[in-house]
Amino acid sequence: MVSQASRLKSVRYDIRGPLLQHARALEAAGHRVIKLNIGNPAPWGLETPELVVEGLVQNIQDAEGYSDARGIYPARLAVAQYYAGRGVEDITPDDVFLGNGVSELISLSLQALLDPGDEVLVPSPDYPLWTGAVRLCGGRAVHYRNDESIGWQPDLEDVAAKVTPSTRALVIINPNNPTGSVYSREMLLGLLEIARRHGLLVLADEVYDHVLFDDAVHEHAAALAPDLVVLTMCGLSKNHRAAGFRSAWLAISGPRAPAADYIEGLDLLANMRMCPNVPAQHAVQAALGSRSSIDALLQPGGRLREQRDHAWERLNAIPGVSCVKPKGALYLFPRLDPEVYPVKDDEQLVIDLLQQEHVLVTHGTGFNLPTTDHIRMVFLAPVDVLDDAISRFARFLSTRAA
Ligand code: PLP
Repeated sequence: MVSQASRLKSVRYDIRGPLLQHARALEAAGHRVIKLNIGNPAPWGLETPELVVEGLVQNIQDAEGYSDARGIYPARLAVAQYYAGRGVEDITPDDVFLGNGVSELISLSLQALLDPGDEVLVPSPDYPLWTGAVRLCGGRAVHYRNDESIGWQPDLEDVAAKVTPSTRALVIINPNNPTGSVYSREMLLGLLEIARRHGLLVLADEVYDHVLFDDAVHEHAAALAPDLVVLTMCGLSKNHRAAGFRSAWLAISGPRAPAADYIEGLDLLANMRMCPNVPAQHAVQAALGSRSSIDALLQPGGRLREQRDHAWERLNAIPGVSCVKPKGALYLFPRLDPEVYPVKDDEQLVIDLLQQEHVLVTHGTGFNLPTTDHIRMVFLAPVDVLDDAISRFARFLSTRAA
């Protein structure tokens, strides 16, 4: 018998968990499943800009060997210049690590940091890789509350109350997956003040920093706290619709001297994986050197904007369903009023939805939400597909009302 490591027992990643197996079984039986469970733009016809693809294609001949473990210099320079133009002045190419997606860099940053029992403050709900990766490193993910009644902004009192002598880092996901909230400057300053007071490393997951709607403004945590060690993470998956390239970066800002030992650890881990995928590193400069290609999709009349508006309106029109309007990212996180839909097991609920209506979404507890009254729906599909999916969802819910 070959069994899995015991440290995996506490690790969950429900977005691609048992639910996906159910969906695969349905597909194998010949059914078409509307998959609104993953933020993967390409299958919905949201293509990577040609210029970004060209960056990879034009340099493919130079991509056969390993690169520097941190990544190729022009890409790291492009990342440093990108942040310099956005208020984070002190990042040099040496402070940038490229990675195979933000996913790899999340794991790397935590592996280099955590000893068993160390605690990391992670939002609830969260992008669940954060909780999973903390646990995989032997750490404890301590969840702080994001408050739906204030547009899913963090509850600062709760964050402060969760700090203990074992707390090492604070995770900020902004714009947020799954809630779509974009944190105000005041909120970020409040979070950063807690990190400052307790000497915490700030891990800023900003993979959606260009995916903003209406009047939302994204502020880089690093720009607001030049005196703190901040690791800012972003990449090509969402802003540039190149999720399959697995191309991302981590940029270190703030005082390097007190973090020198940690950065040495990061370097060791970066070297142990040799280097990130080299062809995709060549797309970084092309992506960051051009105007944000996603803007047109987000403006009134733009595809993502229309899809968000339509899906949000239709969800809110379902009796007992309410949804905070997302200001960023690619997700809707509606609440199912427990008085109307008494849900005990939200994973079972979404499995039933899948079986009955062939629509795949993700349950709220999959994002480490403590209550069973939310689901997450990706709004990357065209309006007619979203319309169909939400009609099916409404029909399903009508069979579940108390
Ligand atoms: N961070 C957040 C908040 C995400 O939503 C995702 C993917 O959905 C990732 C990180 C992973 O991104 P990547 O494709 O760069 O690994």
